[in-house]
Amino acid sequence: MTNKRIAVIGGGVSGLTSIKCCLEEGLEPVCFERTDDIGGLWRFQDNPEEGRASIYKSVVINTSKEMMCFSDYLIPDHFPNYMHNSQVLEYFRMYAKEFDLLKYIRFKTTVCSVKKRPDFSTSGQWEVVTESEGKKEMNVFDGVMVCTGHHTDAHLPLESFPGIKTFKGQYFHSRDYKNPESFTGKRVIIIGIGNSGGDLAVEISHTAKQVFLSTRRGSWIVNRVSDYGYPFDVLINSRLKHFLNKFCSQSLVNKYLEMRMNQRFDHEMYGLKPKHRALSQHPTVNDDLPNRIISGLVKVKGNVKEFTETAAIFEDGSRENDIDAVIFATGYTFAFPFLEDSVKVVKNKVSLYKRVFPPNLEKPTLAIIGLVQPLGAIMPISELQGRWATQVFKGLKTLPSQNEMMTEIIKEKEKMQKRYVESQRHTIQGDYFDVMEELADLVGVRPNLLSLAFTDPKLALQLLLGPCTPVQYRLQGPGKWDGARKAILTTDDRIRKPMMTRVVESSNSMTSTITIGRFMLAIVLFAIIMTYF
Ligand code: FAD
Ligand code: NAP
Repeated sequence: MTNKRIAVIGGGVSGLTSIKCCLEEGLEPVCFERTDDIGGLWRFQDNPEEGRASIYKSVVINTSKEMMCFSDYLIPDHFPNYMHNSQVLEYFRMYAKEFDLLKYIRFKTTVCSVKKRPDFSTSGQWEVVTESEGKKEMNVFDGVMVCTGHHTDAHLPLESFPGIKTFKGQYFHSRDYKNPESFTGKRVIIIGIGNSGGDLAVEISHTAKQVFLSTRRGSWIVNRVSDYGYPFDVLINSRLKHFLNKFCSQSLVNKYLEMRMNQRFDHEMYGLKPKHRALSQHPTVNDDLPNRIISGLVKVKGNVKEFTETAAIFEDGSRENDIDAVIFATGYTFAFPFLEDSVKVVKNKVSLYKRVFPPNLEKPTLAIIGLVQPLGAIMPISELQGRWATQVFKGLKTLPSQNEMMTEIIKEKEKMQKRYVESQRHTIQGDYFDVMEELADLVGVRPNLLSLAFTDPKLALQLLLGPCTPVQYRLQGPGKWDGARKAILTTDDRIRKPMMTRVVESSNSMTSTITIGRFMLAIVLFAIIMTYF
């Protein structure tokens, strides 16, 4: 019997890992990438191709290396915890080389349409039409993995800003921002306080005359560098913390987080305090923003009510004159035009079972990979989605009935609506830990802590107290990696190494403080379990 052929659309990080997942399951991938190289969003260019996501030159990733790596291919220990975009791309190139993925990619080939074959209800097959250098071609595939990303189409809400068309200065979307050079000595307004808005305000404020950061609802600001200098995502994502959180109300967790963020700087005093709670918005990660605000180089403003030829009038009635440029850091929309009716997207909302499978197909042979906005890294989520999708394509796993899937999708949407403030950026949210654990369960690779507690207590303790890294999903089950145990037990070494570039006398005091802290928490947890169960 011949292997099933799978079309992978997109050669970004989701596409690369999907190719590998196909190979692991003995499927035959053919990846179509519209540009001439891999990396998707992470391949910086001054003039990126049409249809590819684009970043600015200085982007430093805000998810740390141990939390964003692929589960069986670690990021080199000397790489920084938060990498510059060029190092992120370098890592993806290393991954592609290590697993020999490039030979499965057809570059400069755009997927134009993906249609069900006439016998789809029995075969589950798709007709995929591609275009390469003006030539169209149709191929039949047994499955399709859509890995086209969701940060390509700029959301430029000019209709919400009366007068912008008469504004005589420069205005454009953050997708088109590359570097701060042209803003030297200028007065610049940045609209939006997502991670792009925060980063741009900080960078431009180094040379601009004045930067105004306009936000319609404010934001809580999270630090990359957390307690004892550890990456914040490493510290917040332990199993123990998640377990303890389950005993607390969301309001209590919010209170704690807000207290910590206000300890760093008072969000009210800095004009950033929103009406909503910390967990009700996608976090803005920025260590430098308060420094720029306290220096007066960035001024926080409310929403712009209207623009004149040279000025901005804000909703609170204040006015800023002589504005040279306005940058709309107002986010992105996504769509799958080539899928026609198979997946409908309305106002950034889509119905997918576990964020992957459209529930309305007769056969589960279409998977969307990487369509998630996690509080954490996307890459390992794409990987686990790919591992699950390929198991489903192969028939190793089945999906529930259409009704059951729809019920769950509706439940998930209601949960999201209840938690997040209404915004077009909050339609595909997910918590890193919960999403990873759920997918790991579906794939059959969630580590069994109880049995490990008896067979390998050292490892079990690390899984309980340490960061829940992607490598943990290679310890057992399909795709088990023999290097996983060692990789997990040496996580701390890889975090510390890139900073330790000068020899200092070691007291190990910080590591022991953290370990003791975690150990105490474990004792508390044990006490709770003994009391209640
Ligand atoms: P992409 O990287 O967008 O790749 C999609 C690929 O599909 C592209 O190569 C494109 O050319 C190709 N393609 C599209 N349509 C077609 C077609 N019809 N036919 C053929 N090929 C096609 N995420 C994090 O986890 N951590 C971060 O810190 C982080 N920082 C970010 C910073 C910025 C400024 C932005 C905008 C996003 C950031 N993200 C971050 C999110 C980012 O989207 C993901 O990290 C990641 O790039 C998603 O990979 P992807 O492969 O799904 O999509
Ligand atoms: P985003 O997260 O969608 O933020 C968009 C911002 O624009 C929000 O503050 C939003 O406000 C505001 N906005 C949208 N429409 C508006 C309107 N009509 N009027 C006023 N304000 C409006 O977009 P982003 O900041 O570009 O981030 C996109 C993705 O890239 C995210 O995943 C982000 O984490 C990532 N990113 C990462 C880095 C990094 O790693 N260094 C840097 C940049 C971006 P509301 O909240 O009120 O809707």
